[in-house]
Amino acid sequence: MPPLAPGVWLARGGTHNSLVIEMADHLVIFEPPLFEERSEAVIAAAKESIPGKPIRHIVLSHFHDDHLGGVRTYAAEGAIVVVHSSASDYVRAVLGKRHAVEPDRLELVRRDGRHIEPAVIFVEDGITLTDGTREIKLYHVPNLHTSGMLVGYVPDARVLFTADLVSDTFPLIPPLASSVYDLIEKNGLSVEMIACAHGNAMPYAQLAYALGKSSKRTDTAEIQALEQRLIDGIKAKDVKQIMSCYSDDLFAYDVVPPRQYVGAAAFQKPWQGFLGMFEGPINVDVNDLIINSDGEIAYSCGVQHVTGTTNEGKPFDSTFRITDVYRKRHGKWVIVQEHISLPPDVARW
Ligand SMILES: [Zn+2]
Repeated sequence: MPPLAPGVWLARGGTHNSLVIEMADHLVIFEPPLFEERSEAVIAAAKESIPGKPIRHIVLSHFHDDHLGGVRTYAAEGAIVVVHSSASDYVRAVLGKRHAVEPDRLELVRRDGRHIEPAVIFVEDGITLTDGTREIKLYHVPNLHTSGMLVGYVPDARVLFTADLVSDTFPLIPPLASSVYDLIEKNGLSVEMIACAHGNAMPYAQLAYALGKSSKRTDTAEIQALEQRLIDGIKAKDVKQIMSCYSDDLFAYDVVPPRQYVGAAAFQKPWQGFLGMFEGPINVDVNDLIINSDGEIAYSCGVQHVTGTTNEGKPFDSTFRITDVYRKRHGKWVIVQEHISLPPDVARW
């Protein structure tokens, strides 16, 4: 079972997949499709790849039979079943049934007098499963395919798991795929790969592109908004707002000594000094801002024309060249590197 991301595996089957997520002292598995034999194969593969960790949660994407047919096997393992509340009666009935004629694992466990009543968690809008370090977020996603659909997201692995709304093997159904796109964009999820219950995993950029909503375009808009927030911060002489645009581990070259600043905290001082030079308003015009992004890292360059009046009553008029490097952290773009320079001869330049 090759990992999809650190501590995350897509257990692929002929028609249906499961996602195995390693937590500190247990496993969480998303989706128990088909029937007992399939669950047994996934459980065996999980135990082989990640030995010694029990399966604590089995998450159901939705109540359709082909997606929950193997849930009883996990319940027999002692896993807590996690499902949307709208399917509570049905899932209780599935788990409560006797399999007297051809006993399955849950029936056998019951005959031993163990796990009489499998534990179930019913989810409403969403829930976070955590071990204190890694988080798994489950979202209820309203859609046209079914009621009670849960989509899973592992933030540190940047993996999202979904059944039936998106698949790399079915034709794209825009109303269904859009519900996943909207979930990601509205919640600012930093998704790199979408693991599908049918087919394989695919890059989020591929889904965005297929929907005509290239993630690159979204990035550009987000970075433009970030730059605007920084400019607005300068105009308002609000150093806090300016600093909120930088990451804590910022590296910056400014026009005046020292040679470099390491860390956003160190870069606050020159900003305070700059803002303190002005009496009255500061005007900033941005020209030729060019932004490029690959979804994870981005860069921009542009020219800023700054005018105002200094505390000595003299006019200030300078043109700066700014190059910024950005990274997406927790779903939000921040500046991680900044290089400010002055053209050597502004008049002729
Ligand atoms: Zn399906």
